[in-house]
Amino acid sequence: MTLKFVSCPSPNHDARPDGTPVDILVLHYTGMKTADEALARLCDPEAKVSAHYTIGRDGRVFAHVPEERRAWHAGVSFWAGERNVNARSIGIELVNPGHEFGYVDFAEAQIEALIDLSHEILKRHPITPQRVLGHSDVAPARKEDPGERFPWAKLAEFGIGLWPARGGGEASASDLSRFGYGLAPDMDVPLEKVVTAFQRHFRPADVDGKWDGECASILAGLLAPRAV
Ligand SMILES: [Zn+2]
Repeated sequence: MTLKFVSCPSPNHDARPDGTPVDILVLHYTGMKTADEALARLCDPEAKVSAHYTIGRDGRVFAHVPEERRAWHAGVSFWAGERNVNARSIGIELVNPGHEFGYVDFAEAQIEALIDLSHEILKRHPITPQRVLGHSDVAPARKEDPGERFPWAKLAEFGIGLWPARGGGEASASDLSRFGYGLAPDMDVPLEKVVTAFQRHFRPADVDGKWDGECASILAGLLAPRAV
């Protein structure tokens, strides 16, 4: 498939701090009723939000911000010790009304385009599989996107992000911080919210915010050393 780029520049970006590597990819849904509404907001100087790209349900890729610039998509966020996720990430929005306006499955053409675009991004930047994340992973107290309908397992089949092998032992909920989730007491994020974010990403069939044996096994699998 050839990617179809559409120029749709946003004024909402600034310089990345000197010497910051681009080593995180954050995936979002737009969470608005229509694609047009979402594109207008991402390009509205008053809104002060953006992403590098938005992918429509037909697979078109709207390019908003050059990758060398910092787009404003993650907000207050944390991953693996880093509090300024925007500074070191690429942000991609996927058109979907989201939990608020009628969450639907992502479209096939949309996911195909995301896979191709992600392959290009992963060639350009040193982003490891464990740093391909959802917005809810880096901001679990505030965000639910891209949500439990997002096909993380399929992306992992194409070498984008991690999908855990099961049966690797047992990890406890507090081990979520070893994987990257923000659990420090000063962050004041309820554990249930972090468990929910973990489930949306890695156990989407059952998102109840409660740590159980299956979660323990999945996290152990994710934490196990692997040959990459
Ligand atoms: Zn988001």
